[in-house]
Amino acid sequence: MDTTPDLKLMGVTEVNGQPLACGGCGNTFSLEVHRHLVLETAPAWISCLSCGRGEDSPTVTNGLVDAALAARTGRARAEDRDLFTAQWRGIVMTGELVPELVMDDMVTLAELLKRETTKTAKAWGRAQKREAKALVKVRTDALSGAVRDRARSAVGGAKAAALGAAWQLQTGGAGPAKSVRPKQRRCRVKGCKRGMLTIKTRVHSTTGKTQTVKVPCAVCGRTGGGK
Ligand SMILES: [Zn+2]
Ligand SMILES: [Zn+2]
Repeated sequence: MDTTPDLKLMGVTEVNGQPLACGGCGNTFSLEVHRHLVLETAPAWISCLSCGRGEDSPTVTNGLVDAALAARTGRARAEDRDLFTAQWRGIVMTGELVPELVMDDMVTLAELLKRETTKTAKAWGRAQKREAKALVKVRTDALSGAVRDRARSAVGGAKAAALGAAWQLQTGGAGPAKSVRPKQRRCRVKGCKRGMLTIKTRVHSTTGKTQTVKVPCAVCGRTGGGK
């Protein structure tokens, strides 16, 4: 018997609506079908890749295998599936064959590899960049922190120096500055402003009408202690 299977089945193959299964372990996946003997009506050989058992199929004949091979869609493009629906002497078999490598698979695979490689390279690049950035940031932070501290102390120093100079200037270096302005003394005489009283009188009036006359205040004098 030829060791190369005629049908490498993929997934569940159905024969007359029933899943094709291994007679030994009941496995419905990973089955291979071999043409066996010569007659079309002779049962095909089903080998199970799961348990390793091989047996004459009670349903699949050589004729059905030939029909399936004739009916298979084959594949041209990477996204294609190799499907078949075969009918031979009243028995219908539907299923899918393990995809055989086609040129488009190679192209797709190459593209995929390239994409993955690029992606990986980019991801690596990104990681590197991120790492570098983080490192720079750490260094920058440390640096700016130091600069900031230095600037802060410089400002503090300048401020202190300026204040000191002003202090010297204002006080001559003596004691804290106080307001030297004396408190205003107000004259208690009603109507006295800056030592002058404004009097309304008709006495000195030449017109006979009421006039205002300013006279020195007798209490505070002309010195006018008040405002
Ligand atoms: Zn089996
Ligand atoms: Zn007065």
